Amino acid sequence: MNPLKIEFLGTGTSQGVPIIGCDCETCQSKNLKDNRLRSSVLIKSGNSSVIIDCGPDFRQQMLRSKCQRLNAVVLTHEHMDHIAGLDDVRPFNFKTKLDMPVYCTKRVENRLKEQFSYAFSDEKYPGSPGFEIINIYSNENFKIGDQRWTPILAQHGTWPVTGFRIQDFVYLTDISGISHLESEKILGSKVLVINALRKSKHVSHFSLDEAISYAKSTKVPEVYLTHASHQLGLHEEVSDSLPEGFHLAYDGLKITIQ
Ligand SMILES: [Zn+2]
Ligand SMILES: [Zn+2]
Ligand SMILES: [Zn+2]
Repeated sequence: MNPLKIEFLGTGTSQGVPIIGCDCETCQSKNLKDNRLRSSVLIKSGNSSVIIDCGPDFRQQMLRSKCQRLNAVVLTHEHMDHIAGLDDVRPFNFKTKLDMPVYCTKRVENRLKEQFSYAFSDEKYPGSPGFEIINIYSNENFKIGDQRWTPILAQHGTWPVTGFRIQDFVYLTDISGISHLESEKILGSKVLVINALRKSKHVSHFSLDEAISYAKSTKVPEVYLTHASHQLGLHEEVSDSLPEGFHLAYDGLKITIQ
């Protein structure tokens, strides 16, 4: 198997960090690790380059990571901070003359057809983005290039959200709960990315304590926390407080999984 090269394109919650107009300590921090674009991750292996989620910062993220090629977009759920950047796949459409494969559940597909109706209409105006929707199901693995993907069904408040295992890498964002059965898909992996919104509880996201306690239960040795809000606190202070094997992810962080 080819090693997986992971790049965190964004590690922030829906408003990003800093938040417009906020003068809190985190939003005012001079540490670049406290600047968080909306959550997304780039996964490269062999000839495949795939992103999970395509939020409003997608264009900036592709430019910053100097991404020349993108084989597919995989979506966790339909919230705007995870889909709003899809119009900006156009440069890839123009370059390859192909529609962009978008892997998502039927529920997410329905939302995309509302949000980006112009891209799905019979009379597309010139220059519209092109999407090739490929439906995914929680009990069916799928392949993208040389990567084998396993969907993991979780809860995001009252909504469903899909996490993914690719080889020994697991990415779970925007979750507030997950069944024992779905958790079994994580067993034996080497790296887990999981959302930790803030220190206090939230109705649809794991808090820091909940994320740590869940991640410990999976026994995955290396854990990276993502989808952080400004309320989580300063990168340096939070990082220092974490148990062994836990890291607070930051934008631009790269890891390789053999
Ligand atoms: Zn989100
Ligand atoms: Zn703030
Ligand atoms: Zn969400």
